[in-house]
Amino acid sequence: MIPFNKPPYTGNEDHYVLAAMRSDKMSGDGQFTVLCQKWFEQQLGCKKTLLTPSCTHALEMAAILIDIKPGDEVIMPSYTFVSTANPFVLRGANIVFVDIRPDTMNIDESLIEAAITDKTKAIVPVHYAGVSCDMDAIMAIADRHKLFVVEDAAQAMLAFYNDTPVGIKGHLAAFSFHETKNFTSGGEGGLLIINDERFVQRAEIIREKGTNRSLFFRGMVDKYTWMDVGSSYLPSELQAAYLYSQLLDSTLISQQRQTSWQKYHQAFAELELNGFLTRPVTPQNCQHNAHMYYIKVADLDTRTALLSHLKQYEIGAVFHYVPLHSAIAGQKFGRMHGEDSYTSIESERLVRLPLYFSITEQEIDHVIAKVKGFFR
Ligand SMILES: *Cc1c(COP(=O)(O)O)cnc(C)c1O
Repeated sequence: MIPFNKPPYTGNEDHYVLAAMRSDKMSGDGQFTVLCQKWFEQQLGCKKTLLTPSCTHALEMAAILIDIKPGDEVIMPSYTFVSTANPFVLRGANIVFVDIRPDTMNIDESLIEAAITDKTKAIVPVHYAGVSCDMDAIMAIADRHKLFVVEDAAQAMLAFYNDTPVGIKGHLAAFSFHETKNFTSGGEGGLLIINDERFVQRAEIIREKGTNRSLFFRGMVDKYTWMDVGSSYLPSELQAAYLYSQLLDSTLISQQRQTSWQKYHQAFAELELNGFLTRPVTPQNCQHNAHMYYIKVADLDTRTALLSHLKQYEIGAVFHYVPLHSAIAGQKFGRMHGEDSYTSIESERLVRLPLYFSITEQEIDHVIAKVKGFFR
């Protein structure tokens, strides 16, 4: 049996998690949280990062930081996970969905401007499968209309756009360390990137239940008090320790994923040439992080047949996202702007194949053989 996912685990996590367990501080913002944040600030070249319990929580913080109010509009793709939308809906926003590009499955940057109204507050690009959106175009639109850009970079840790790490262009960006992502903080976890320094101090307050506790710990105020709205957006040190171990092994984890990704990609070149499927496209100026390997087949019926074929061989292939604009909550809280030329049709063609740190070459060969067998 080959599952769709296994959480990344190198074996070095035990040591770090045990150290966190035996330390005198297991609650948030201890030594491992600080080590992780410093690592990201250095690797990504960004000014400020804050570890959070999930990417969803990082996006909730972003929605509070940019002051989303009832009636504000937020533009995003419909082809994404619910967590791209929920944090803004929780603040009362209406979601405006825009079609995707069929090559990358990312928001079509050329359709964003037409969806802007005088209520628009933010654009939320999603870097699907760790392939960056066209951030230069999106930031130019945001500048022209004075909008905020919050990057849903959940899948894009250590992916690159024009040779710079993904997550440092928007005013804010959010990453996920869920067990299905490239690096995990023990199952659940996230990170908020603050590129616009105006948000730094308020972000620390929101994350600490609305108090200025962080300033107090740094000795900058002599007592701490309730300053603003907030919640508990701090992960435990056990989570941070697990993640820190994976960051120290990030080259190994990344290389392993890249090897698996390339193996799939090369194996399916011929099927693509013969018109049986489409392989993922990575634009020239983007470097993906091997987060996901997917293929797109002819149509929904072919996909249903392929998935049940693979299931027979106990291969955990899956599909995802029911486009948000067609979901019950999506219709309640949002609307599609413009045509759905690609979102529905392309999402129905997509199949994700097993790809995780510990998958072996033999297992990948097995999956490839069964996919090829289906088309034969
Ligand atoms: C995984 C994912 C999320 C949610 O991440 P959590 O850490 O589970 O909250 C949000 N958006 C996208 C695009 C994702 O893939």
